[in-house]
Amino acid sequence: MKIFVPRETDPIETRAALDPEAAGKLVKLGAEVSVESGLGEASSHSDEDYQAAGATVAPDRGASLAEADMVLRVRKPDAAEIGKQKSGAIHISFLDPFNEPDLIAAFAKQGVTAISLEMIPRSTLAQKMDAISSQANLAGYVAVILAANRLKTILPMMMTPAGTISPAKFFIVGIGVAGLQAIATAKRLGARVTAFDVRAEALEQAESLGAKALRIDLGGDTAGTSQGYAKELTSEQLEKQRQEQGKVCAQSDVVITTAKVFGRKPPILIKSDVVASMKPGSLIVDLAAEGGGNVEGIVPGEEVVTDNGVRLIGLANYEGRVPAHATQMLAANFANMIGHFWDAEAKAFKIDLADELQKGCVITHGGEIVHERFRKA
Ligand code: NAD
Repeated sequence: MKIFVPRETDPIETRAALDPEAAGKLVKLGAEVSVESGLGEASSHSDEDYQAAGATVAPDRGASLAEADMVLRVRKPDAAEIGKQKSGAIHISFLDPFNEPDLIAAFAKQGVTAISLEMIPRSTLAQKMDAISSQANLAGYVAVILAANRLKTILPMMMTPAGTISPAKFFIVGIGVAGLQAIATAKRLGARVTAFDVRAEALEQAESLGAKALRIDLGGDTAGTSQGYAKELTSEQLEKQRQEQGKVCAQSDVVITTAKVFGRKPPILIKSDVVASMKPGSLIVDLAAEGGGNVEGIVPGEEVVTDNGVRLIGLANYEGRVPAHATQMLAANFANMIGHFWDAEAKAFKIDLADELQKGCVITHGGEIVHERFRKA
């Protein structure tokens, strides 16, 4: 099986789908791995590093896309590049399938089997392939480091002969994978952390990391789904949440929002009146910004400062700010997935639509949209 890894085309993307270590693992399985020249530039891996791991460096992206049996990339491709892949080939990347019906149709039309990293089920078996989690974990870390960098104060309490400095106050909204890492990182740096999530078990996890849990009785069912994701709140519940957490925002130096609802737009959790009540010099880092954001007034991809001096950070690809580790984790997710479904005799990735894991993440196959959720749409 020929596996090709092209360079990412989105200028904000610094990650690569494969690092030399994971490339070496695939070569050991019996795959022919080729990477586009310069693939590891941003994550500090040279073409020679990939070659030393047994991969070849492809000079011609178009020709390699056309002859590959499998293409791995981080971000979704544009339709023109799908058109270059041969029928029967496999493509694996983040695909944003809920918002990309045309892209899914293009994969089906081309006869390419498209696998979406977002749709890998959250089972114990699949944890080693769970790219959403491996990347969210790093994003949570980056959010805190970015905030620490922008603040005009330090984070820990200090008692010195020159006086006492109070610890910075952090408020983390959404205690999933990213939120938990944000709490752990902020605590390690000495901040005082409060956290909120709609799922009760997440509040307990926050407390076990030393954060104060904000408890709001939203009424109704706020338990998570069997996959660990939150369910969408009603508009009344959201209003109640916004009111109750407003006071905490006003007292915080840093608010980090990470709240997402799988397959839907992120909820707006902080409105402009609350931003207006925050202290000058305080800031909000919105990790949901790329999908629309949790904060009113956030500008996706940018940092803006409001009239009252509050910095709103709405960048995308937070994990891409630590490209070496983000690439390492993502590449391991790819290698684990391919290894799991590797047919040693055929030396190829075996598509098996009866497999529970593949049922979850294979979107198109054999010229059709095979995933139930997207076929209906
Ligand atoms: P996510 O990125 O979908 O959402 C981030 C967080 O936002 C979640 O904790 C969610 O509950 C929260 N949220 C949603 N609406 C909110 C609101 N209105 N206010 C406040 N918070 C809100 O979730 P995620 O981080 O990908 O994962 C969530 C959980 O899934 C994890 O904490 C973990 O326990 C579980 N998980 C399980 C597996 C597994 O293999 N079983 C793997 C990864 C994660």
